[in-house]
Amino acid sequence: MKIGFIGLGNMGAPMAANLAKAGHNVTGYDMATVTVDGVSNARTAKEAAEGADVVITMLPNGDILRAVAAQIIPVMRKGAVLLDCSTVDVESARAVASDAETAGLLPLDAPVSGGIGGAAAGTLTFMVGGSDEAYTTALPLFETMGQKSVHCGPSGNGQAAKICNNMILGVTMIATCEAFALADKLGLDRQAMFDVVSTSSGYSWSMNAYCPAPGIGPKSPADNDYIPGFAAELMLKDLRLSQQAADASDADTPLGQQATELYRRFVEDEDGAGRDFSAMLPRFEKRGRG
Ligand code: NAD
Repeated sequence: MKIGFIGLGNMGAPMAANLAKAGHNVTGYDMATVTVDGVSNARTAKEAAEGADVVITMLPNGDILRAVAAQIIPVMRKGAVLLDCSTVDVESARAVASDAETAGLLPLDAPVSGGIGGAAAGTLTFMVGGSDEAYTTALPLFETMGQKSVHCGPSGNGQAAKICNNMILGVTMIATCEAFALADKLGLDRQAMFDVVSTSSGYSWSMNAYCPAPGIGPKSPADNDYIPGFAAELMLKDLRLSQQAADASDADTPLGQQATELYRRFVEDEDGAGRDFSAMLPRFEKRGRG
């Protein structure tokens, strides 16, 4: 396929490289000067999009996505797929999809989970919103860049699935970290705590697969001085998107709200910026109730 790829950052560059490696003809564009193996460079987003069967965007936020979409939608060929893999607000995803449909394109919102490691290894999970036709056309690309894709319904539903998942992740990571800090104060050994919780009803991905306590459970960023992994800033971004969506849809999400405020404080007022989101544990262990 002829693919335009816009946004060749930490995630986009390895995803584009995997598509090129699989034999696709990939033309990339990023505002920054970036070279990606097997990907030819365009001078503008428009140039990358012109004549492509599929245009993939992997951008920082909804405003940037809207701006890029406004440039490329008019030059894309009718029937082409506009595949946004960024994590953005549901409203922006739906607005871009509506403009794309009006222009005769097939839009998909397909945010990912799996992080930079998953992007490099081609093992991402895609949560996809859009028509059956668009999903079927893009399926071979999901299979190259990832190991799983779930078609979640119409446009915007991929983003909805992503932010609901990550709201659970933020809340469970905080719960896991505060429980470890409480266990410490009660004189409970961390290994014993892990052995019990990871096989009892408190188990979760945060505890079992990404344990925030160093030296316990499988290897995780906690074993590497909390170098991300999944940065606290990115968790904050996703939690904010969940609360923006909750406001817009009048959903009661008290724990999501509280998790957003805790990560905001951690990133903006404390030492959380640049650290993994599981570094909530050293944050809690230093504190008392006051
Ligand atoms: P990044 O900041 O490394 O990459 C974004 C790229 O977009 C940058 O290279 C930037 O120069 C480029 N860009 C910005 N504005 C542009 C424009 N107008 N035109 C062209 N290029 C432009 O971010 P990332 O980590 O690659 O994340 C990309 C998206 O994926 C985000 O929405 C993020 O939330 C999501 N995501 C990231 C991870 C992760 O672990 N990094 C995991 C899941 C989802």
